[in-house]
Amino acid sequence: MSRKSKIFLQRNYQVIYAVVLIILIPLTIIFNTVSSVKSFKNNIDVGLQRQALTIGQVFSAWFAESEVSLEELQAKVESIGNATGDLARFDILYPEGENFIIAASLDTVNIGELNEDLNNVIAWHQGKAIASMVYNEDQFIDEVDRFWQVVMPLQDSNDEKQALLRLDMSLGVMDDLVQQTLTKSYLILAITVLIVILLLAANTRIFEYAVLFKKLKEVDKMKDEFISMASHELRTPITTIRGFLSMMLEGDFGQLSEAGQKNLKIMEASTNRLASLVEDLLNVSRIEQKRLEVSTIKVDAKEMLNSVGDEFALRVQEKKLSLKINIAEDLPAVSADQDKLRQIIINLMGNAVKYTKKGEIEMAASQQDKKFVRITVKDSGLGISAPARTNLFNKFYRVQTDDTKGIVGTGLGLWITKQLVELMGGEIFVDSIEHVGSQFYFTIPIYIGEKKDEKND
Ligand code: ADP
Repeated sequence: MSRKSKIFLQRNYQVIYAVVLIILIPLTIIFNTVSSVKSFKNNIDVGLQRQALTIGQVFSAWFAESEVSLEELQAKVESIGNATGDLARFDILYPEGENFIIAASLDTVNIGELNEDLNNVIAWHQGKAIASMVYNEDQFIDEVDRFWQVVMPLQDSNDEKQALLRLDMSLGVMDDLVQQTLTKSYLILAITVLIVILLLAANTRIFEYAVLFKKLKEVDKMKDEFISMASHELRTPITTIRGFLSMMLEGDFGQLSEAGQKNLKIMEASTNRLASLVEDLLNVSRIEQKRLEVSTIKVDAKEMLNSVGDEFALRVQEKKLSLKINIAEDLPAVSADQDKLRQIIINLMGNAVKYTKKGEIEMAASQQDKKFVRITVKDSGLGISAPARTNLFNKFYRVQTDDTKGIVGTGLGLWITKQLVELMGGEIFVDSIEHVGSQFYFTIPIYIGEKKDEKND
């Protein structure tokens, strides 16, 4: 399938789904109706053919039993004809030279007429019955009547051929019945199609949704592009501001007063927050547009945890918290993207410090099973209620309580963290008790030897 048709299918699959349903359901009903009517018709056709032959055989047996006069013949023809409603014609013919002449008939006006049908000759010479379907076109009402025609030689008691029996068994009653059934079925079909269309149109509003869905996707794409562009544009001035701020703090432009130093430090902290927000936004758009590259290599998780621990030492100290690092002695190396793994641990540690007022923070790592290492960040902080935990990894979700009121954040950190963990083949979980503490833990594959580079396209 070409790329264009793939894109077309993806964009219009709801419309295609509706159209397929609208075509498929009526087609199934039509197929079912037509095939049942056809087999019903075939059964009745065979039944009527047998009935026609049976009448012929009964008559033939009666004929063979005794010598019959023309009057008796006529009376018998009439009695059988009256008893059998579907007999359109019933004649007894006697040979007359090359042809056959009607000697007795259900319709007495036919008596004495010649009948030159070829079937008469064939049945007579073969000495057996011929049954065939005959079509009679009625030009006035533009209808075709169908008959089972039986031509059968009649023998006397000495097995000598004496006469011919011809009868036409009408299929009109059955054909009317079939026509009625078909008309009813087509009516039901029309109603079903209408119901299907109404259901699809009203209940699922498929067409509206399809258009809306398309629009939403376009708007979503525009939003992603805007965020990506705006974040990129913000990066450069932020870097410049940070550079000058650090130069000013280092006294490159002259000695600052104490108040000046203090205020510049506040500016620096705010600029750092702004930079990390821009970085988060860029990561969100990279992840959503599947542009985030993950190259996994052999990573020493122990070394990484210790270095993140060092990075956080000052902040932990400032908040008067204690930090414990608990790493299993035989912890195997993991297969991860170094920067992404670092970012995951920093995000979890950042939250642990941010949402803990007193007590302890612990980083731990151990082998979970043959395939994974488990890394845990545990705190004795605010904790998270059960309902909040269900939304915790959603984009922009922040827990709104009196305790979290003054704490700044975007609600992007955990969403990004989860995406990064999953991109590297792991899973992330959270256990927490409100006002007691939280523990976030994630798995990361153990390094199994060969180096593999993955690129997310
Ligand atoms: P942010 O911290 O920027 O608000 P996150 O996505 O990192 O965004 O976290 C989402 C929410 O989860 C936070 O607003 C916070 O309420 C809650 N949370 C995250 N980590 C912790 C933690 N260790 N203890 C208590 N609450 C937490």
